[in-house]
Amino acid sequence: YFVYEGDAERFSDFFDRDSLLVRYYKGQTRGSMDYLRKRPDGSLFWVRAIILLLADPYSDNVRLFMMTLDIDKEKREELKLRSQTEHDGMTGLLNRETFVAKVTRILGEEGSANKHALIMLDIDQFKQLNDNYGHQFGDKALHRAASRLKSALRRDDIFGRLGGDEFIILLKDVSYSMDLYSRLENLCSLIGSALEPEVHISGSLGTAAYPEDGVIFEDLYKKADIALYHAKKHGRNQYSVYES
Ligand code: GH3
Ligand code: MG
Repeated sequence: YFVYEGDAERFSDFFDRDSLLVRYYKGQTRGSMDYLRKRPDGSLFWVRAIILLLADPYSDNVRLFMMTLDIDKEKREELKLRSQTEHDGMTGLLNRETFVAKVTRILGEEGSANKHALIMLDIDQFKQLNDNYGHQFGDKALHRAASRLKSALRRDDIFGRLGGDEFIILLKDVSYSMDLYSRLENLCSLIGSALEPEVHISGSLGTAAYPEDGVIFEDLYKKADIALYHAKKHGRNQYSVYES
């Protein structure tokens, strides 16, 4: 009851009697675990539980010694730093490296039972927008477009900024039916409505499918890029789906 609900399972696994004994007999007599602990007022703080397993000299028992340290300040600082290195400062989206790492992990751990779509998205004539309204306005446009797009994504989808006016999305578990096409259509129209009605903005999307078009990130990325180029060449403000 003093452990934050989100950490409760990890906590009880760690302190499970049998797994502690397994640890002990494997010679792992020291260990530690960080978790969020609840204060009486319900607020949360980070603590580190440090354990030591020792044979009781007077019986067959194994004794558990535990020390709990308040690590709230350091832990929050560490999480903040990690978050800063994983996200793009302007839009708050994942940066390129983190996006690639996440998607690579997902593609690696799944069989081809699930279908995903990798989308590359590039704002149309963005240089023009910067030239007409200023760089700061351009920044606002990127920020707005990102948050609009984000609102249309599901919790499991992965969204990143590749840099400049280029975004990248992994739609997880899509079916290649009307569902995907209507979602792509929707993403296009969301960019169009990201700014004031008198300012024209649009984006082009290129999509590649997992596993049909590739099972590793690099292949999907290449093909989504080809599809994006196609969408640009055919007049922008549209999506294009890779076809060999
Ligand atoms: P296209 O339709 O072919 O994509 O034309 P485009 O003008 O959008 O061309 P491109 O995507 O190659 O250029 C993107 C431009 O975005 C280049 C750069 O001036 C601008 N840009 C890149 N990063 C930022 C940023 O962080 N803020 C702002 N305001 N502009 C940026
Ligand atoms: Mg562009």
